[in-house]
Amino acid sequence: MNIESIWNRFLNDIKKRVSSLSYNTWFKDSNLVLLNEEHAIIIVPTIAHKKHLAESYIDIIKEIFNEITGTNFNIEFLLENEYIKEDINKDEKIEELGVPYNSPEKANLNPDYTFENFIVGESNRFAQATALAVAENPGKMYNPLFIYGNSGLGKTHLMQAIGNYIIQNSNKRVLYVTSDQFINDFLGLNKKNKDGNNFDYIDLFKDKYRNIDVLIIDDIQFLGNAPKTQNEFFHTFNTLYDDKKQIIISSDSSPDDLKHLEDRLRTRFNWGLKVNIFPPDNLLRKEILRKKMSNMDFSNHMSEEAIDYIANMCHSDIRSLEGALTRVCAYSTIFFEEEITLDLAIEALKGTITQSTSFKNDIQKIQKVVSEYYNVSVEDLKSKKRVSTIAFPRQIAIYLSRNLTDESFPRIGMEFGGRDHSTVIHSCDKIANEIKNNSQLAKIIEEIKQKL
Ligand code: ADP
Ligand code: MG
Repeated sequence: MNIESIWNRFLNDIKKRVSSLSYNTWFKDSNLVLLNEEHAIIIVPTIAHKKHLAESYIDIIKEIFNEITGTNFNIEFLLENEYIKEDINKDEKIEELGVPYNSPEKANLNPDYTFENFIVGESNRFAQATALAVAENPGKMYNPLFIYGNSGLGKTHLMQAIGNYIIQNSNKRVLYVTSDQFINDFLGLNKKNKDGNNFDYIDLFKDKYRNIDVLIIDDIQFLGNAPKTQNEFFHTFNTLYDDKKQIIISSDSSPDDLKHLEDRLRTRFNWGLKVNIFPPDNLLRKEILRKKMSNMDFSNHMSEEAIDYIANMCHSDIRSLEGALTRVCAYSTIFFEEEITLDLAIEALKGTITQSTSFKNDIQKIQKVVSEYYNVSVEDLKSKKRVSTIAFPRQIAIYLSRNLTDESFPRIGMEFGGRDHSTVIHSCDKIANEIKNNSQLAKIIEEIKQKL
C-alpha cells in the first residue's frame, strides 16, 4: 500500500461515516503527505480546517487510519506553507508500518523455533526454502503459504521460524495461533458484557486478527469440526489477503484432502503455494541427532553405532527421534555411563519404540513385503534354504523385524522357521554393516520401509 492508496481508502471510509457536507468541507481538499512509523501529516487548506479537524474529528480519523494500517498514528495538520518536504522514499517508509509486535510472547511464538535450529535435508529442503523466502518478503512471494505433512515433521517449527524471523527483521506484526485457539476466540464472541451486547468482544477479536501483518495458523484441519468458525475464518482470510498481509497455514494433509472444510476455503488455500514436508531420510535423522547432541549441555559421547541405531529406530518423524535421544541421554546419566554405546541405546529404548514411532509392524507383514519385493515366497523366507537369492532377503527381513518391531531375538528366530537367536543377531549385524558400505542396499531398505 502506498501513501496515495492509503489516503484514497481513508477518503472512501470517512465518506461513509460523516455527512456529505462535512466530507466536502473538511476532507475533500485535504491531503496526506507523510506517513512514517507513528507519525502522519495531513495538509489542509485553511487554518480553520486545522483547528476543527484537530478538535472534532481527530478520533474518527485515527480510528480509520488504524483500521487501514493497523497502526495508531499521531496526526498533525499543517498548512501547505508550514510543511517542509522531507526527501524520503515514501514507499519504503510504508513498509515499516505497524506497532512493533517484536516480542515472541506477544506474537505467541516459541523463540527456540528458528531457521538456525532447523536442520535441512532432502525431505524438507523445499519447504525450508519457501519458508525463508516468505520470511524475507512477507505478503509478496507466496500467499498463502500452505505447509502440510504428517505429525512430527517440523511444520510448527518452520512456521514459527518465519514468525521469529519477521519479528527480528521488521516492525511487522505477527500472530501465531493454532486453529483451536482461533475457535476458542471465536466462541468468546458469544459472551455478553454488562450492557447485554458483545461489541467489546467483537472489537477485541477483530483487533487481534485483522490488525496484523502476518497470520500464522497451525493445524487448520481442526477447523473441520467447526463450521461457524470456518465462516469467520473465511472473512478473516479475505480481509488479510486483500490487504496483502501474509497468511501461513499448516495442516496434516493437502488442501484437496481436507474434505471437512468448505470448498471456498480449500480453493483459497490453493491460491498461493503448497509445500509438502516428507519424513526424514536416514542422513537427516543422523544429522539431527548429532546437532541436537552438540547443542545439548551434555558431554557424553555417542558412538556412531548408537546414532545409527536410534536413527534407524525412529524413521517416521522427528518428534519421536528427539524423544528417543532424550531418553537415551537420560539413561546414560542415570547409569553414569560416559560413552553412549550401541548396547546402552538398545537398553534405553527397549519397549518404547513402537509407541514412540507409532509404527506398528508385525513380523508377518515384514515377511510379506520383503517376499514381494524380492519375488520369493514367505515359505522360502522361513525355510532352511541357503541359496543367496533366498538367504539375502531373509536376512533383510530379519534385520527389519528387529529394527521395526520390539520383538526379541528369540521371538524373531521362531518366526523365521525356528532359527537360533544367534543366527538372528548375525543377520542383523551383517545387514547393518552392509548398509554402511553399500548405499544401494541402504536405498533398498528405505524403499521397503516406505512400503511398510
Ligand atoms: P509438526 O508441527 O510437523 O508436528 P514440529 O514442528 O512440532 O512438527 O516438530 C517436532 C519436533 O521436531 C520439534 O521439537 C522440532 O523442533 C523438531 N524438528 C522438526 N524438524 C526439525 C528439523 N528439520 N531440525 C531440527 N528440529 C526439527
Ligand atoms: Mg505442529
